[in-house]
Amino acid sequence: MIRLHNISKYYGEIKAISSVDLACKAGETTVLIGPSGSGKSTVLRVIIGLIIPDSGDVMIDGETLIRTNALAQRRKMGYVIQEGGLFPHLTAMGNISLMARYLGWNEGKIQSRAEELCGLTKFPEDALSRYPLQISGGQRQRVSLMRALMLDPDIILLDEPLGSLDPLIRSELQSDLKDIFRALGKTVVMVTHDIGEAGFLGDKIVFINGGEITQTGTIQELLNSPKDRL
Ligand code: ADP
Ligand code: MG
Repeated sequence: MIRLHNISKYYGEIKAISSVDLACKAGETTVLIGPSGSGKSTVLRVIIGLIIPDSGDVMIDGETLIRTNALAQRRKMGYVIQEGGLFPHLTAMGNISLMARYLGWNEGKIQSRAEELCGLTKFPEDALSRYPLQISGGQRQRVSLMRALMLDPDIILLDEPLGSLDPLIRSELQSDLKDIFRALGKTVVMVTHDIGEAGFLGDKIVFINGGEITQTGTIQELLNSPKDRL
């Protein structure tokens, strides 16, 4: 479904990522884990076409990503950016319906899709009229997820979606995310720096350090491998 081949991206002298090879299977959850500054967000931005790599290529759904198909390919993906990225001047409903309105969906279709997503993400429908600052951190993440799911994309990219939440809310959202990913059968690529979260949510776990992939496998494979490689 997603294949990165020999991807490198530098900012001047600064290496963001280099020689990254990655394959994400359809319907699976791939978790990228690594320390801050290791290149995790860069990998997601390359997948969604927001960053053009210096070298290498990206294939989505069997099609190589190029300038002319980038927009069409991006429409197949929902993206939850680091820190949620909700527009503060729009209500929850305003945020989740932004793209649908832009694409000309009628009000009834928008409303019924929003209700469906509230059920899926356990977000109270009566809070759709609130602004991001008027809901809790956990609810904001649910709204970010609804926004990413609105157009029913095949692929969902999530950049540390639970990063800023306190532990109890975080574990509740982890299990909700797992249920949602399983129910929808989407291809998911998620970034975290928490190994417990990676093991809980990932069918496949990819370690990244200093812009390079150091190890890949299921949590079982990784736990059985020599400790110094983890
Ligand atoms: P992570 O998400 O793992 O914290 P990033 O992918 O955001 O890491 O960044 C990887 C490296 O690339 C870091 O050293 C970061 O400082 C650098 N970097 C990322 N974006 C830029 C940019 N726009 N300009 C300069 N350096 C950048
Ligand atoms: Mg990041």
